[in-house]
Amino acid sequence: MEILSGLSLAEIEQITDNLHASKFRARQIHNWIYLKSVKNIDEMTDLSVKFRDELKKVSLVTDVKIKVKQVSSDGTIKYLIEYPDGECVETVLMRFDNRANLTACVSSQIGCAVNCSFCATGKCGFIRNLTYKEIIEQVLTIQRDTGLKVTNIVFMGQGEPLLNLDNVLKAMEIFNENFQIGARRLTVSTSGIVPQIYKLAENDMQSTLAISLHAPNHEIRKKIMPIENKYDMKELKTALKKYVDKTGRRITVEYLLIKDLNDSADAAKELAEYLSDIKCNINLIPYNPTAKNDYQRPSNNSIQKFKYLLEHSGKKVTVRLERGADIDAACGQLRGKVD
Ligand code: SAH
Ligand code: SF4
Repeated sequence: MEILSGLSLAEIEQITDNLHASKFRARQIHNWIYLKSVKNIDEMTDLSVKFRDELKKVSLVTDVKIKVKQVSSDGTIKYLIEYPDGECVETVLMRFDNRANLTACVSSQIGCAVNCSFCATGKCGFIRNLTYKEIIEQVLTIQRDTGLKVTNIVFMGQGEPLLNLDNVLKAMEIFNENFQIGARRLTVSTSGIVPQIYKLAENDMQSTLAISLHAPNHEIRKKIMPIENKYDMKELKTALKKYVDKTGRRITVEYLLIKDLNDSADAAKELAEYLSDIKCNINLIPYNPTAKNDYQRPSNNSIQKFKYLLEHSGKKVTVRLERGADIDAACGQLRGKVD
C-alpha cells in the first residue's frame, strides 16, 4: 500500500499512471491531501466512485493514529501521534486570539540526545530520527483533525532538528511547495550544532533560525546544556555571524529564564554584550516546570527587569507567551508519552 501523505505531485502521478488515469487526477489527489486534508479516499468527491475504488486498492491516506488529544483552556491542542512501528511523538497546535495564524509546533526526533538539564524531552534519551514523511504527518494530522489550515510551522517540539537535518530540510521543502507555507513562516530551533549551522548558511536558508542560547557565558551554559562542551559559545558566535552574513536573515535568540541561575542584572548585561555584534531578536522564555529538576520560573517582576535591561542594547526583546501549560504542552514539557 502506498501512503499518500508526504508524496510529491510526481510521486502521485506515478500512482495515477499505473491506474491509467490522467495527470489531472494526480493534481486533484494532491489538493485533497495537502490543502483540504481529507481523512480518507472516499472524501475525494470530485473523483468518480469507480476511480476511488481503484485508488483504495493500492493506497491509503495515512498510516498514523492519534493516540491522545488534549485541549488546553487557552485553545492549544496537543496530540500524541503513533507511527506504525509503535513509536509516539507529540505535536502542538497553537492559536493566538488576536491573530489569524495557526502555528504547528512539530517534533523532529523521537527523544533527544542533547540532554539539556531543563527539558523533559532529553530525559528519555534519543530513540530515533523521524523521516520527512513522519514530520509532515504531524501537520497533516492537525489539519485533518481540526479541518483548519496550518499557516506557520516551528521545529520546537521534541528532538534536535539539526541532528536530523536532511529530513528536516526535505520536510521544509514540502511545507513550502505542497502546503504553500512560505519559507518565512517556518522556524527551526537548535541548541547550537555548529557544523550544521554552516550547512544552513551554505544552503542560504530563508526560514528563521532560532538559537537556544539560554546563558550569558560559557560557565553557566555548560551547567545546563552539555552541548556547550562540544561547541562553545565562542564557536557558536562565529557560526551565527557567518549565517547572518550569508543569508542576510536576522536570527532569533531564545533565552530561557531560570530563577537565580541566569536571570540576574549582570547576566542581562553580559548577554547584551555577547549579542552586540549579531543581527538578532531576543525571545525570553520563562522556565516551564518539568518533573526533571527543581528549577523555578523567575517572578514577573524580574522577567520585566531582565527584558528592560536587554532592551537598552537596542535589540527587539519579546517574552514568549506560555501556551498549553495545563496539558504539559508548553516549551520543554513534551515527553512523547502518557502516564
Ligand atoms: N531542540 C531544539 C528545539 C526544541 S526545544 C532546541 O533545543 O532549540 C524548543 C525550545 O524550548 C528550546 O528553546 C528549548 O530550550 C526550550 N525549552 C526546553 N525546556 C524548557 C522548559 N522547561 N521551559 C521552557 N522552555 C524550554
Ligand atoms: Fe533536546 Fe532541545 Fe530539549 Fe535540549 S531543549 S534536550 S536540544 S529538545
